[in-house]
Amino acid sequence: MLLTDNLFYFISFFVFIFGLIIGSFLNVVIYRLPEGKSLLFPASSCPECGTKIKFYDNIPIVSYIILRGKCRACSKRISVIYPAIELLSAILFYLLFIKLFYNAFFHFNITSYNLPLFKDYLTRRLLLFMVYGFFIFVLIPISFIDFFHRIIPDSLNITLIIAGFLFNIFLLHKGFLFPFVGFIAGGLFFYLIAVFYELVRKKEGLGGGDIKLIAGIGSFLGIKGVIFTVFAGSVLGLLGFIVSALYLNIKDRKRTTSERSNNGNLIQNDDNYDSGCTGSDNLHSDNADYTNALAHNINTVNKNNNTANISSNNNAGSKMSSGKRELNLNNKKDDNFASSKIPFGPFLSMAAVLYIFYGSYLINIYIYFIRR
Ligand SMILES: [Zn+2]
Repeated sequence: MLLTDNLFYFISFFVFIFGLIIGSFLNVVIYRLPEGKSLLFPASSCPECGTKIKFYDNIPIVSYIILRGKCRACSKRISVIYPAIELLSAILFYLLFIKLFYNAFFHFNITSYNLPLFKDYLTRRLLLFMVYGFFIFVLIPISFIDFFHRIIPDSLNITLIIAGFLFNIFLLHKGFLFPFVGFIAGGLFFYLIAVFYELVRKKEGLGGGDIKLIAGIGSFLGIKGVIFTVFAGSVLGLLGFIVSALYLNIKDRKRTTSERSNNGNLIQNDDNYDSGCTGSDNLHSDNADYTNALAHNINTVNKNNNTANISSNNNAGSKMSSGKRELNLNNKKDDNFASSKIPFGPFLSMAAVLYIFYGSYLINIYIYFIRR
């Protein structure tokens, strides 16, 4: 039907634009919340030169492309993470729209369909769209702040927990038990794991932020969602760990070979990494890039390096010392890597979003295979 076709594309367009605008705000949340700054004032400014960003240079994605990723005032590079977060928000929001409404547009024959029933169906879908949309838009800053700073702000976790209860009780009418059981199951389960881990290993494995996060996911998705999220999140986390370990390994080998060719001997191994830095200029910049990339990928303390300006070389020099310490730590204590270098929040968030889209489908596949 032509009408529903056009209506579908028309609404799709606005859903995508709305996702981009929210994503633009999420950038502000990700950048300012860990620094304790206000989310609303002042207006955004360039992290390098401090120039206020004009409204026409602040259009999601479009401005980044027009300015070719550089600040208009100082032409320093703007991190690609900003448009990436805008795009991610828009894509997830659009996919959620498709997931919930595609059938309403293309599979219902509205003219012959029972209209009151169709209205109920649409209302229900709209409520789910709002609730899950909100859920995703809180999980995005949680994931990125956890990734960059290794913390999850309480304000975000508590928003998640309270909204999960309110939405399930008052919007979706699932009653009090649905969010409550999910909240307790997730929170208690992670709390016990954390206590157990600390008893056995004598150090913190799961942070308090992770415990509150899974409790919040539980209050949104219920106990079935929590079980899925813990399970899938662990699998994704393990994959992430393997990939980053391989990545670091490859980087490490590349560095060793470049040192060899630069210095013509083999004395620069991991233990006297410091002396390697006093080599030629070429080697120096190699190391600077490497530490910079490392700092970005496994998240050292320096947040400016991560969120603001990833590839600026004049910054890299001053940050080398902290990057090096991190590197030596990695080489000597590999067992420390799993617990302290990989944040769990992003993987839990990914699993929770996966549950919204494919949860029941994946659970059915799983059940099918155990019953065989
Ligand atoms: Zn600037």
